[in-house]
Amino acid sequence: MLRSVILAAARSQKVERLVETAPISRDVVKRFVAGSGTGEALATTRQLADAGLCITLDNLGEDTLTADQANATKEAYLELLAALGQAGLTAAKNGGGEAVTVATAEVSLKLSALGQAFDEQLAEKNAREICEAAAALGTTVTLDMEDHTTTDSTLDILSRLRRDHPGTGAVLQAYLRRTEGDCRELATAGSRVRLCKGAYKEPEHVAYQAPLEVDKSYVRCMNILMAGEGYPMLATHDPRLIAIAQDRARWFDRSPDEFEFQMLYGIRPEEQTRLARAGHTVRVYVPYGTEWYGYLMRRLAERPANLAFFGRALISK
Ligand code: FAD
Repeated sequence: MLRSVILAAARSQKVERLVETAPISRDVVKRFVAGSGTGEALATTRQLADAGLCITLDNLGEDTLTADQANATKEAYLELLAALGQAGLTAAKNGGGEAVTVATAEVSLKLSALGQAFDEQLAEKNAREICEAAAALGTTVTLDMEDHTTTDSTLDILSRLRRDHPGTGAVLQAYLRRTEGDCRELATAGSRVRLCKGAYKEPEHVAYQAPLEVDKSYVRCMNILMAGEGYPMLATHDPRLIAIAQDRARWFDRSPDEFEFQMLYGIRPEEQTRLARAGHTVRVYVPYGTEWYGYLMRRLAERPANLAFFGRALISK
């Protein structure tokens, strides 16, 4: 019911105008989105880096339906990477030369924004150009994961990109029943894997529905990644999972530079700095761009529990 209301609101231009002009919107947007252009994204990145955090930047885009839109997204990423490089923000935090580069700032891509829905080859070509630009600056790219109908295509494109750019990161979603298997496949040397719970509305036959089942799957997947040879990137704000990750790191004898935590910009910022001060690598996922309305509404619609999630973030520190 709630989901239908949010989805209807997401499609309504009237509601969009209302939300965009409501005073609360400015606070919400400022809290969760780093601004509309490269300059603001850069300023936020600098601020987070100065606080000892790492960053992955996401250029927000609406559903990409044409090659021109896909091209514009690619160009926005190239402009951003050039600016990050010029500002010295793409440097490897771990000094480079390791099995995995841990760059101060990298980028996260949605293949759908690069054309995946209508031309997979175009999306791959665009992603490859971005990977090349990132590699030239010493940094990395992570491919976000979207709904389950795109998982195979995204992992196929990832494996081809990795032949030339082995540091390209994958995202696996613990709510998918297939993910333990995908973790085993990807827990190899040099492989960067972000593990998240998953943000889309998925059917029962492909995804666990009960939060407890998702959490248990997250722990099983985390065990596989922490026991493996790759570089786990544990994306969660869940205190229980963070504590389990710290325990597993001790169990599997992983030092703080052999895995990282990731959280969203604006969510639990104090926990982000607390973990960083305790010696962990913490990467903040920073969305920026003008298309924030769709971003926030889709987050809510995909998972109505996020209503509480964003609400909690607004009243918490
Ligand atoms: P939740 O179940 O939302 O929260 C668990 C617990 O965390 C809560 O019960 C509470 O104790 C605590 N908590 C949460 N928020 C707060 C708060 N504001 N203040 C205090 N406590 C809080 N999803 C995808 O499908 N594809 C992606 O590519 C993707 N990339 C992501 C990248 C990053 C860096 C992150 C952090 C998330 C990403 N997600 C992605 C979203 C993810 O799948 C989840 O929807 C989202 O992170 C919420 O899950 P959670 O693990 O934080 O736990």
